[in-house]
Amino acid sequence: MLNKKSVDDLNVKGRRVLVRCDFNVPLKEGVITDETRIVAALPTIQKLMNDGAKVILCSHLGKVKNGPNEGESLAPVAVRLSEKLGKEVVFVADYNVTGEAATAAVAAMNEGDVVLLQNTRFRGKEETKNGEEFSKELADLADDYVCDAFGSSHRAHASVAGVTKFITEKGGSNAVGYLMQKEIDYLGNAVNNPVRPFAAILGGSKVSSKIAVINNLLDKVDILIIGGGMCYTFAKAQGFEIGKSLVEDEYLDYAKEMIAKAKDKGVKFLLPIDNVVAKEFNNDAPSRIVGESMDADEMGLDIGPKSRELFAEAIKEAKTVVWNGPMGVFEMPNFAKGTIAVAEALSQIEGTTIIGGGDSAAAVNQLGFGDKMSHISTGGGASLEFLEGKDLPGVSAADNK
Ligand code: AMP
Repeated sequence: MLNKKSVDDLNVKGRRVLVRCDFNVPLKEGVITDETRIVAALPTIQKLMNDGAKVILCSHLGKVKNGPNEGESLAPVAVRLSEKLGKEVVFVADYNVTGEAATAAVAAMNEGDVVLLQNTRFRGKEETKNGEEFSKELADLADDYVCDAFGSSHRAHASVAGVTKFITEKGGSNAVGYLMQKEIDYLGNAVNNPVRPFAAILGGSKVSSKIAVINNLLDKVDILIIGGGMCYTFAKAQGFEIGKSLVEDEYLDYAKEMIAKAKDKGVKFLLPIDNVVAKEFNNDAPSRIVGESMDADEMGLDIGPKSRELFAEAIKEAKTVVWNGPMGVFEMPNFAKGTIAVAEALSQIEGTTIIGGGDSAAAVNQLGFGDKMSHISTGGGASLEFLEGKDLPGVSAADNK
């Protein structure tokens, strides 16, 4: 489906292949607490190793706000990756990322060997502002380039975008890896070629972060369900009393426009018809169930039981569902029922279920529904931008077939 060169289209024997992975794993005191992203990167790495490439891996880790530091070094990833591959991954610890140590490590590689470079964000703005020099240095280490970092593909960074220009200049190929391909196939099929009815469920805290998604999806879906903190801006726009609930007043007009657009397009647009409210943002705060309005000193923290039923019924109709954002403050068990109900409804349908990354992925996994979904995206921001209909720099930069 994706008209981009993939690892299957490359002839890599004896060639140096730079692979941009997403090894942005959670770390607690230097220990990796969730290895999902490492596991997700293995198919592409193993394919290249088996084909006799010299595999040079790079990734960012963390935000690196205060410059290079051991706490954000990729060293623990090299160790875990070596275990997973059953072969030593040579780690270049040099904070310069490229440079002499990297050049020497690459020069010493044999076919099938794997080298991991240091955290690309240790180069600061050179990485995040797509710097030419750093892009060229990365390209100088390799003959071909593979992007498999879906979670970073919405960012025009040197290791995602800039590097490809210099690979092209020297006659190399820029391809996407298996993980990227899978993400784009699932998300792309869902959005552009869905088996209908197609439903989208959006939640989470802010309307502002999902404006473009709502607007774009209203052109594509049959059913749009909105819950979570963002639904109170819609409730207020309709004249309900939302008390101290989350609200973005500057988006009230926008909310009205979206409700009108849904009507215009014949999209079934569902908002909660009842809510679980409390006076404090606290799991142990006494709560009650109200309809669409609440008292001025209350806030909505979850969708109510009737809404859970309404949403679950609508989800049952669907053959394709995309979900991004929790229905309430699911981190607090007393306000997690709405999110659990949606996860459960999704787990029961016979159709394609796609979970946007970030909080919804965490919620689905945490609640034990992970293996019931067709696809859980590894990239929160990237999957949102994809659903907005934007071009992802990491995808556009790959060569066409
Ligand atoms: P986002 O990062 O925008 O996807 O939002 C996820 C966050 O929204 C989670 O941490 C939830 O706890 C939070 N959230 C969901 N519903 C509500 C609500 N009704 N009030 C406050 N926060 C909420």
